Amino acid sequence: MLEVVPLKAFKDNYVWTLRNATHAAVVDPGEAGPVLDYLGREKLRLAAILATHHHADHVGGIPALLAQHRVPVYGPKHEPIATLTRPVSEGDRVEIAELGVSFSVLDIPGHTRAHIAYYGAGALFCGDTLFACGCGRLFEGTAEQMVASLKKLTALPDDTKVYCGHEYTLANIGFAKNVEPGNAALAARELRDRKLRDAGKPTLPSRLADEKATNPFLRCGEPAVIESVNKYLGSRVSDPVRVFAAMRDWKNNS
Ligand SMILES: [Zn+2]
Repeated sequence: MLEVVPLKAFKDNYVWTLRNATHAAVVDPGEAGPVLDYLGREKLRLAAILATHHHADHVGGIPALLAQHRVPVYGPKHEPIATLTRPVSEGDRVEIAELGVSFSVLDIPGHTRAHIAYYGAGALFCGDTLFACGCGRLFEGTAEQMVASLKKLTALPDDTKVYCGHEYTLANIGFAKNVEPGNAALAARELRDRKLRDAGKPTLPSRLADEKATNPFLRCGEPAVIESVNKYLGSRVSDPVRVFAAMRDWKNNS
């Protein structure tokens, strides 16, 4: 069983840290400090660094980690990350022998041009593409790409644990309630996640099945979602990409 520990970075980033008794690998170390502290405290050796996309709050800590640990750095082949030593894209596998785990790489463009995800051991590390009850902004990609990327992720097994890059869940749920006020699963999720935050705990990982039931960006074909989006737009659209694009715009402006 893979143990995954959230290390907090900046205001609301998580550096997901995969570990066993002796080694660790980190996903998206935007800052080195929390990782170096943890490795020192737990007496762990770093085995690998994995990056999902090129934004500084996901890769900024890599040089300082490499200064102390000479380890392979995996990341998207088609993004400008100077510290990568193992560029990967869809179809590649990432083997971390020290942890006895391997991941397949998925191309999920949209938030950035060549964003990737790592999937293995029932866990999905999806950076800033799929968030708990939300999704990333379209900085470099199109709505069409993001819809295709999200569709690829939702094809994974329902019990997949979703480890995303930020603790945005409660704010995302707030927006989701505007889109789908009658969604009972969403109301239940809000109660549960609010309790977690009140106790100072992460709301992550989430379960893919819960995302499918509550995340409005994965529900662009639901009549209630289409209805709300049309009300926002003041015109009638039903094509999932146009519904998605309008909802993304709505959230950006709310
Ligand atoms: Zn990002």
